[in-house]
Amino acid sequence: MSQSDRLTAPDSQDGDPDAALRPKRLGDFTGQRQAKDNLGVFIEAARQREEAMDHVLLHGPPGLGKTTLAQIIANELGVGYRSTSGPVITKAGDLAAILTGLEANDVLFVDEIHRLSPAVEEILYPAMEDYALDVLIGEGPSARSVRIDLPRFTLVAATTRSGLLTKPLLDRFGIPIRLDFYTVEDLMRIVHRGAEKLSVPMNDDGAREIAARSRGTPRVAGRLLRRVRDVAIVEDSLPITREVADRALRRLDVDSLGLEMLDRRYLQMIADNFSGGPVGVETIAASLAEARDAVEDVIEPFLLQQGLIQRTPRGRMLTNRAYEHLGLPVPTRDQGLL
Ligand code: ADP
Repeated sequence: MSQSDRLTAPDSQDGDPDAALRPKRLGDFTGQRQAKDNLGVFIEAARQREEAMDHVLLHGPPGLGKTTLAQIIANELGVGYRSTSGPVITKAGDLAAILTGLEANDVLFVDEIHRLSPAVEEILYPAMEDYALDVLIGEGPSARSVRIDLPRFTLVAATTRSGLLTKPLLDRFGIPIRLDFYTVEDLMRIVHRGAEKLSVPMNDDGAREIAARSRGTPRVAGRLLRRVRDVAIVEDSLPITREVADRALRRLDVDSLGLEMLDRRYLQMIADNFSGGPVGVETIAASLAEARDAVEDVIEPFLLQQGLIQRTPRGRMLTNRAYEHLGLPVPTRDQGLL
């Protein structure tokens, strides 16, 4: 099964079923208290000054609400919103075209900013700092650089890997914001709200069951909710209770921790083929026939957060908890800590 087929793959898919469940206002955005409080202050200040807000960098695993927050920032500021993403902007000219099309104080959302090419990044520096573009006109000895003024704008950038950003780029963001996995309580609220929007009857225990198996990720919660609803409708077993949710999620191969086949294959493979590790990420990706990015961005963050694996300088290692979760005997190892 490839990454994109995963039921709980937190990357967005075509047709964006997420859109319907997306909160539009900061007040409707559940959880992430600190991020929300900080943004609230900066939004209010920018509104009062009637100026563009400082540039924002949102980082955290996929599906935690980065795109949603970017849209909320534009909504709350009452300004225009444009969006693009790092891999889409291949030439410096592409970015120049987007920047010159902005209106004063607009929000420009750039997803996956860590995937911008160095040539494009060069254009971004003066744009972010001086709201200017340096364009080279002509060729050879007669070439000259012309500076074009841009309207003031707010760059809201998202990344799953702030570690891959260059220092000069990182330094140009006045407001760095980190998003963390959500608590089960926050996800329960999100699931309840989603069920209301979808007009699916559900009790508290049903919502808790879905929330607890959503890998701390609102996008996963939304997707599991829709799948559980489908099963419940087909089985004629509404309202969604704990039993209904559990049965549906089991059928969908989502286990008690929210792990799916691919996650379990990841763990099982390290147990079976590498005696629990340490094993390098390249080897893991090759063994799973998955891209290294997908392994690092999508599979591993949640396994790390759950204490199922550890990152060591020599590679990934399974913890005792992983063995217990897989129902395997815990090996005696001299690492002690694990
Ligand atoms: P990212 O850009 O980080 O990958 P998105 O912003 O696209 O994630 O969010 C994915 C889905 O999760 C959206 O459908 C959105 O409705 C939902 N979502 C994310 N954060 C929240 C939240 N705090 N409250 C309610 N729904 C949320």
